[in-house]
Amino acid sequence: MRIDFLASDVARLKLRFPAGEKVKFKAGQYLQVLLPDGQRRSFSMANPPHQNDGAELHIRMLEGGAFSHWLAHDLKVGDHLRVELPHGDFHLREGSTAPIVMLASGTGFAPIKSMVEDGLRRGQAREIALYWGARTEKDLYLLDLARGWGEQAGLRFVPVLSEPEAGWSGRTGFVHQAVLQDHDSLAGHQVYACGAPAMVSAARSDFVETRGLPPDAFFCDAFVVAQPRTSALTD
Ligand SMILES: Cc1cc2nc3c(=O)[nH]c(=O)nc-3n(C[C@H](O)[C@H](O)[C@H](O)COP(=O)(O)OP(=O)(O)OC[C@H]3O[C@@H](n4cnc5c(N)ncnc54)[C@H](O)[C@@H]3O)c2cc1C
Repeated sequence: MRIDFLASDVARLKLRFPAGEKVKFKAGQYLQVLLPDGQRRSFSMANPPHQNDGAELHIRMLEGGAFSHWLAHDLKVGDHLRVELPHGDFHLREGSTAPIVMLASGTGFAPIKSMVEDGLRRGQAREIALYWGARTEKDLYLLDLARGWGEQAGLRFVPVLSEPEAGWSGRTGFVHQAVLQDHDSLAGHQVYACGAPAMVSAARSDFVETRGLPPDAFFCDAFVVAQPRTSALTD
């Protein structure tokens, strides 16, 4: 296990599976970390499936969060972590030639990274527009990597900041609004959205209601916070 920080509040955790163990998963899926007290936390794999001897996670460090606290204060390089995978239904739907809109907010970039790197490796030919939103430029914690993808044929990368600092010449506002500005119609597209639940929900309703996106062409993972465990006392 290795940990480094990609931004002040985003940790990258690299896990290596036990020697010789390869795990099959689809780009976009997630794993669950089992905490020592039995609680579970969900995090998406940021590595593509062909890198199957471990998992790369991008973790937003939450004030007061159980796993965030454990990661910041207790876990050390070389420690063992119990994980369960794969989980989830967020993955690229093959068998379609529809152009793709991907949108991510914050660490919602993790599964999108896995999907893009998987697609680049397999030489997939569909047109992709990738929108990544965050508050400030440093919150786009792998901006150079994503800009590099934007130089590949068929992939357009659009970073969007909601609280840009002076000097930012790129797009501003909420990430799903940038998609609305760029597309009069989303009929005939597939949309893959990942990150903050409010963003995912606004994107779904606006794209379907105002841009003609068929509801079954919207795929998402909303990063809902785990239900805090409550304990009951008996008397
Ligand atoms: C499918 C899926 C994939 C995900 N992938 C990612 C990912 O790749 N990267 C990522 O960063 N996140 C991801 N998430 C979100 C992540 O799982 C949650 O944010 C998770 O809850 C964080 O765990 P934590 O233990 O650090 O914080 P938690 O302990 O879950 O706490 C979360 C927040 O709730 C507050 N809280 C905790 N207990 C209480 C309480 N009793 N009362 C009031 N408030 C409380 C905490 O202060 C904190 O701000 C994903 C979620 C889902 C569902």
